[in-house]
Formats: sequence, structure tokens, C-alpha cells
Amino acid sequence: MTEPDAIVIGGGIAGLACALALGDAGLRVTLLEQSDSLGGRARSCTAAETGDRIDLGPHIMLTEYRNMLRLLGQLGTRDRVVWQQQQLLTLVGRPHPVTVRVHRLPAPLHLLPSLLGVPQVSLRDLASNARLFWRVARLGRADALRLDDTSAEDCLRAMGVSERFIEWFWRSAAMTVMNVPLERCSAGALLGFFRYLIGTSGFQVGFAGEGLGDLFAPPALRRIETVGGSVRLHTRVVRLTGTDRAACGVRLADGSELRARWCVAAVPPSCLAPLLPESWAARHAMIGDLASFAPSPYISSYLWFDRKLTRERFWSKVWSPDTLNYDFYDLSNIRPGWSERGSVIASNIIHSQRAEHLSDEQIVAATVRELAEFVPEAEQARVVHARVHRIPMAIPAPYPGSEQRRPATTTPIEGLLLAGDWVRTGLPASMESAVRAGWLAAEQVLAAANRPRQLVCPLPPMQGLVRLVGGRAAR
Ligand SMILES: Cc1cc2nc3c(=O)[nH]c(=O)nc-3n(C[C@H](O)[C@H](O)[C@H](O)COP(=O)(O)OP(=O)(O)OC[C@H]3O[C@@H](n4cnc5c(N)ncnc54)[C@H](O)[C@@H]3O)c2cc1C
Repeated sequence: MTEPDAIVIGGGIAGLACALALGDAGLRVTLLEQSDSLGGRARSCTAAETGDRIDLGPHIMLTEYRNMLRLLGQLGTRDRVVWQQQQLLTLVGRPHPVTVRVHRLPAPLHLLPSLLGVPQVSLRDLASNARLFWRVARLGRADALRLDDTSAEDCLRAMGVSERFIEWFWRSAAMTVMNVPLERCSAGALLGFFRYLIGTSGFQVGFAGEGLGDLFAPPALRRIETVGGSVRLHTRVVRLTGTDRAACGVRLADGSELRARWCVAAVPPSCLAPLLPESWAARHAMIGDLASFAPSPYISSYLWFDRKLTRERFWSKVWSPDTLNYDFYDLSNIRPGWSERGSVIASNIIHSQRAEHLSDEQIVAATVRELAEFVPEAEQARVVHARVHRIPMAIPAPYPGSEQRRPATTTPIEGLLLAGDWVRTGLPASMESAVRAGWLAAEQVLAAANRPRQLVCPLPPMQGLVRLVGGRAAR
């Protein structure tokens, strides 16, 4: 077999985006994936009971996912994303649900009319965010890193945000967007995300109109193979090989070795650590830091009901000490052609340590109870099938101190590059961060191969007041 120019380890979104870009640019690329399917955490499978394609757990995309949408555009599947139009989401809380819309107003006023309609939040509560807004609008990378060791809860209190607004908004935002409780979230990571929320108006939420992994994995595989690359499933890398200073290939679980000038490790930190020779770990602090990335686990459920429960596509519960599931989706209202079917409800228990002791049956029962808070008919309806997926890591948790440990794409080891949602992309760990990371790594390889290409879309520009106040601070 001819030696490839580049080996990509991991067939998740980051690895596929990277391999595709390298193959498209004329490099011989080999992608190695340990499991029997591509897509990683965004993969899809067929539910045996119904034949439906479902995901590891439900995901959303945003219109601001520029890299992800460009990738889907290249693969010809971008039009299979179903967008929510003006409505962002419905928040389920007492005394009644609130529909959050993105209004046609300059940022950050685009969210204000919805927030003014929330019974738990007064004008004074909203105004208590003024100092925070000012700080966030001017937040640069160095500033975000300075705030990384602080918990987001302490930071919001220090900025004078009212307890009621922290309880109602910030606790839910930390869980649903950052995937960790507010008191365990890095202030730098949360405020970095908040800058995008208040600095870009007009964005929409979207969902895969079919299995999420089906949007990118099969077409990426076809295209990598068409340009002469190779994708090997059931192929686990056990070690990177090389000298003290340079990577030269990989050793596989069957004992064979594969050599290449560039190796891109597009795997999560917990999978990367055991691949690195001890001499590299001893020399480079970045490698030692890998052990400190903790996972945010999820429990995702899929429930098939005997009847239609709602016309809503997507809603979320607000934080409370006993909330299990946060985000709910009715796939019968999302998937084209499913509208006449009974409801297929997908939901996520985020940072799910608090539910790990529950059996699958208990999780299903609790999910139906929480569903009934929004759709009372769920209590009367019959669950025809149910699946519970226990996912050890949805993303690496953005606990205090984690943001500064996110490594760059290039490493001190020549020929070794890192990709994956968790590397330093300027974005929270997400599908968008994964594509960006894959393309950042591909840009480095292509530059070194004298085939430079601009692949990565720039981060969305700030608009409105955030742009005025912040200028170029965050660049
Ligand atoms: C339930 C759930 C809900 C989520 N919701 C959202 C959401 O709403 N929006 C959003 O943007 N993101 C969401 N995410 C996060 C998103 O799925 C991830 O950020 C993204 O898929 C990460 O892609 P990746 O390529 O970086 O890593 P991965 O998908 O983890 O890919 C890594 C791949 O490497 C392979 N691998 C590991 N070790 C080896 C080895 N030694 N040899 C060979 N192969 C190896 C793995 O099998 C895997 O296929 C969610 C995740 C989950 C699980």
C-alpha cells in the first residue's frame, strides 16, 4: 500500500472535515476510525424497533454555524437542515411557557422584547446586566482567559446581576449552552458565548431533517474516496510513532504500523492521551494537561408515542434544582414526511451525573412527567417504544480553568496536529467548533505542503451596540 501524505485519526465531524479538505487539495489521505461507523458524537443509527434513523442524542445548529453549513454545502446536504424561522425556542417554566423570538432589532435589542414578556423577570432584573453587557461587549481573548479561573456564578454576582435573573436566565443558559451548572462553568467561556448571543442578531435555530450523521458522514466518505483517499473503519490507533521531536505515523491495534508525513489527531482529549509516547508527555506541558479535561456526560432519550402530542418542534425547560431533561424535540414536526405520525420525542439530560443512578425505565417515566408539564396529554398517551442512550461525554466540560488549557492546532511535535471540538477554536465545543478545528488543522498541513488554502470561515462579525462599544477588542 502507498504511504499516505497524511493520516487523520478519528471519523467525527472534525476528522471528516479535515480529511475531505486534504483530499480535495490533492493530498493522499487515510482516515482511521475505531468504530464501525462515521460521525462520532454526531453519528446516527437505525432504531431497530421502528426503522427510524436517530442520533446519539438530539442536536441543534445555528445559522451562525458558518463552517458547518459550508461543509454541508460542499456535501450537497445543506438544504436538509430544517430551520425554526423567527422563533428561537419555547421556554417551559411557571406560570406559563414563554416563546423567545429573535426580533428584527439591532443587536443586542433583538432579544429584548421576548425577555420583557417573561413574568419572572422585571425591568430592574434586565437592567442589572448593564455592567456585564459593557464588560462582555469589550471582551477580548486575553480578558476571557483572565476570567477563566473564576466561576461564572461568582462573576455574575460580582457584576451586580440580580439573583432573580441569575436563577431564571443564567442557570438555564449555562446548562443548555455550556453543558455544565453555572457554579461550575468558566466565566471566561460563558461570557465568550454571551458576546455572540448579544452581538449577532437575526440568527435561527435548525435541526437535521434526517439522521444528523447522514447529512455529512456518507457524502464525506464518498467524496474522500472519490479523490483517492481511504477511510478505514474498525481501525483503532493505539500509539503515535516517531522520534522525541517528530511524529511519523501510527501503530494500530492489530500491531501494524502506518507512516505519513502528517498526523492529525481528531479525537477527544481522553482518547488522545493514551496515544502519545511517554517521552512527548514528559517534555510538553500541553500533553500533561490532557488528563485535566473532564467530560460533560448526557443521557438522551427517544420516545415513540401512539399519538400526536404537539405541533411544537423544540422547547426547553428552565433550570430548577430537580430538572432532569432540558431540551425536547418532537421529530414528527421536524422530519419532512413525518407530520402525520405520532410524536417522536427526543430529549437530553445534560451534565447527567445526577441521573446516572436511575434505570432506563425510571428515566423514561421521569421524561414523560417532564414532557407533560408542557404537553399534558403525554400522561394519557402510550409510549410505544423507548430508547435511552447513556453518553459518557457530549463535550469536554468548560469548568473553570479549562479554556486556557485548550491546545492550539499545532503542537511542539513536528508533523502532529490536533483537531476536535475541544481545541482552541474561539468557540464553545460544538459541531461548529469541530469543523473549524478540522479545517484549521488542514490549513496548517496544506501550508506545510506548499498548497496553502483558506478553508476556515471567519468568526461572525459583531453587530450593533456590541460592535460600537467593543470595536476590535475581541479579535
Ligand atoms: C447528545 C449530544 C448532543 C449534542 N448537542 C449538540 C448541539 O446541539 N449542537 C452542537 O453544535 N453540538 C452538540 N453536541 C456536541 C457535538 O456532537 C460535538 O461537539 C462534535 O460532534 C464533536 O466532533 P469531533 O469530531 O470533535 O469529535 P468526535 O465526534 O468525538 O469524533 C472523534 C472520533 O474519533 C474516534 N476515535 C477516538 N479514538 C480513536 C482511536 N484511538 N483510533 C481511531 N479512532 C478513534 C471516535 O470513535 C470518534 O468517531 C452534542 C453531543 C452529544 C453527544
